[in-house]
Amino acid sequence: MEVTVVGSGTVVPRLGRRQSCVVVEAGGETLVFDLGSGAVRGMVRSGLDPFAVDRIFFTHFHPDHTVDAVNLLFTIKYGAEEERTRPLHLAGPEPFRRFWKSVLAVWGETMSGEYPTHVSELPRKGTAPLDLPGCKLSWAPTEHSPESIAYRLDGPEGAFVYTGDTEYSESVVGLARGAHTLLIECTGPDDEPLPHHLTPSGAARVAREADVDRVVLTHLHPSVDDDSLVSKVREGYGGEVVVAEDGLRLRV
Ligand SMILES: [Zn+2]
Ligand SMILES: [Zn+2]
Repeated sequence: MEVTVVGSGTVVPRLGRRQSCVVVEAGGETLVFDLGSGAVRGMVRSGLDPFAVDRIFFTHFHPDHTVDAVNLLFTIKYGAEEERTRPLHLAGPEPFRRFWKSVLAVWGETMSGEYPTHVSELPRKGTAPLDLPGCKLSWAPTEHSPESIAYRLDGPEGAFVYTGDTEYSESVVGLARGAHTLLIECTGPDDEPLPHHLTPSGAARVAREADVDRVVLTHLHPSVDDDSLVSKVREGYGGEVVVAEDGLRLRV
């Protein structure tokens, strides 16, 4: 699996950090997890082709994880050199169908193409893993919003987990157990935590309890984003610690 962190920022507008978006290339397909503001341009900046996207997964419905879905579909409809014929899959936690229907009510005619779209709603508590080309997909609830979930991809060489937004959660620890790479949100500092989000010590605790090989910190608010971040996480976790940058590529 090739993982690209396209956006590593939050609601705070910053030149260096777009809003949340992660692209995974596995089994010949391009999967996108979250589409915050700037994601489509960020894919281009990261050397990825936005028209190549096969599947889109949302962790939750906050705008900093979803707004560029409209932009992506609009650009697929009017910005591609060749008309798309292959299907596009969209999935998110319950009640994703209701959420997507309301997006379509506003933008549907403008952004929807002639190609087939398959919309699926994922039961928040999870089911048996879904088989995707080259990997298996599973998910579990996070502690953030009523619908929020985290995702796990198991490939031939190890597992990749992306938390989306969460505070400390046993369910996320369970999902991440034994993973090779945990891309985890780390929004605010320990002395001024942001509600429903993790801090360096919380991210370290999840990584330690899940016993992952490598932790990559994302969803970085300016209040936590300084040179001391890695050492703060290392106080509670002994594995490899990486601070995400927009365009960061990881092999799992
Ligand atoms: Zn959120
Ligand atoms: Zn967020």
